[in-house]
Amino acid sequence: MASLKTISKLSARRQGRPAPELIFGDLWTYDPAPETADPKLKARYELFINGRFTAPKSGRYFNSINPANERKLAEIAVAGPADVEAAYRAAQKAFDTTWGKMPGAERAKYLFRIARLLQDRAREFAVAETMDGGKPIKESRDFDVPMAAAHFFYHAGWADKLDYVAPGRRIAPLGVVGQVIPWNFPLLMCAWKLAPALAMGNCVVLKPAETTSITALKLAEIIQDADLPPGVVNIVTGAGETGAAVMGHPIPAKVAFTGSTEVGKIIMRSLAGTDKKMTMELGGKAANIIFDDAPLDQAVEGIINGIFFNQGHVCCAGSRLLVHEPVADRVIAKLKQRMKVLRVGDPLDKNTDIGAINSKEQLARITALVKSGVKEGAGLFQPACTLPAKGWYFPPTIFTGVSMSHRIAREEIFGPVLSILTFRTPEEAVEKANNTAYGLSAGVWTDKGSRILKMSTELKAGVVWANTYNKFDPTSPFGGYKESGFGREGGRQGLLDYCRLL
Ligand code: NAP
Ligand code: MG
Repeated sequence: MASLKTISKLSARRQGRPAPELIFGDLWTYDPAPETADPKLKARYELFINGRFTAPKSGRYFNSINPANERKLAEIAVAGPADVEAAYRAAQKAFDTTWGKMPGAERAKYLFRIARLLQDRAREFAVAETMDGGKPIKESRDFDVPMAAAHFFYHAGWADKLDYVAPGRRIAPLGVVGQVIPWNFPLLMCAWKLAPALAMGNCVVLKPAETTSITALKLAEIIQDADLPPGVVNIVTGAGETGAAVMGHPIPAKVAFTGSTEVGKIIMRSLAGTDKKMTMELGGKAANIIFDDAPLDQAVEGIINGIFFNQGHVCCAGSRLLVHEPVADRVIAKLKQRMKVLRVGDPLDKNTDIGAINSKEQLARITALVKSGVKEGAGLFQPACTLPAKGWYFPPTIFTGVSMSHRIAREEIFGPVLSILTFRTPEEAVEKANNTAYGLSAGVWTDKGSRILKMSTELKAGVVWANTYNKFDPTSPFGGYKESGFGREGGRQGLLDYCRLL
């Protein structure tokens, strides 16, 4: 049913009067609506090497914790150097004997099978993802899992058409690749990494992040069910040392890393002088730029989605808002109203907008950066909200009166925290947006198509969204400029990063 405001807005438009401002009321209290599907978790997860779940030679395990309530979910194996070695040997053998020789049309069948099996178990995977990582169930259910399946479908479609990846050139797979991924989109990052590598005929050793290994290991169950030849995909779990062993091993012809710029630089330094190919998807500090002619209510929804989606644990989060001075006060007032009706709490509740922060360490990092913002003189706003007593949570936060020198304007916070700056001219907006070490993404909100085109060529960012934010598609290449990294994932360009041109 249309609300009174909507009706008065429509009638005002018909009568040629300016529409009244959209105003949100107070937060309604809903009964809890927890998702009930069984995540089918095992008490203990072993390493996935050569097609089998294998106990680690180290004999060591660590606990995976549910950040929403700090309860232990499962034990996960720690892969030591001998396990990483076994994984790479299995991958090399699979490449030499089966996968590397298989026609693309045959490889496609396996990828289609993985995509379909993932769809069959979508609810189970969504619940497991939410419990392990803390993101709201509506995101894992409606975004992460379907998008992961979409990546396998898309790349399955390429596997028998690889002659068109580089027209006029012959191509060949690289061989074995090593991949390390972060905790913010655990299953989706597996799909981003595995699908193009496999479609191209490569074999893989992949390490998920320590705090979110479960869905990668559940994907290994699907890989077994899909009858993928042993050794084509190997998943080794553990912390940073395991990651370093995966990146530093002599076998892989290429390493692909998604994570922080800091760790990316360590890996690049350690591999300098080798002939390994590398792709790096690193941090970001995106600007969402709102012009005075933008549809403001739509833009406010875009800003909210851009920074509070997945608790701001998003490399391309719109963590800086650049707002045109004539509309700054109105936009900030609307934002504050909208923030008051965001629901923070149990990630398994279908009504939750902002779930749990992934780890205690990440919560401490966000808290420290927010404190620095207050200390440096920016204006803090947080809506009144009651956070659950147990678990790691942070309320949605905005800072006004931010200047370019503040830490909150320069450093990646990776939490639900927005820094607001203003600008007077398009040139100033571009200058401020580009004044960062990063260059992963940006957003532009305006009524003028010409301005969108001009801004998108001047913004030094891998992705520029126009009148929307955080939209993804497997056909669209994604990647950074400057310290946000190099190489692309998705689309034809992403496939080029997994092959040799002959
Ligand atoms: P991180 O600390 O760099 O960790 C990323 C991965 O690297 C994890 O699996 C980590 O293992 C592993 N690792 C840690 N030290 C390593 C080392 N010395 N050698 C090899 N691997 C090592 O990043 P994070 O905190 O998990 O993730 C957040 C960061 O990722 C943010 O900066 C975000 O912007 C970035 N990100 C970028 C993209 C993109 O596409 N550009 C996408 C998502 C996230 P453990 O977790 O087990 O320690
Ligand atoms: Mg966890």
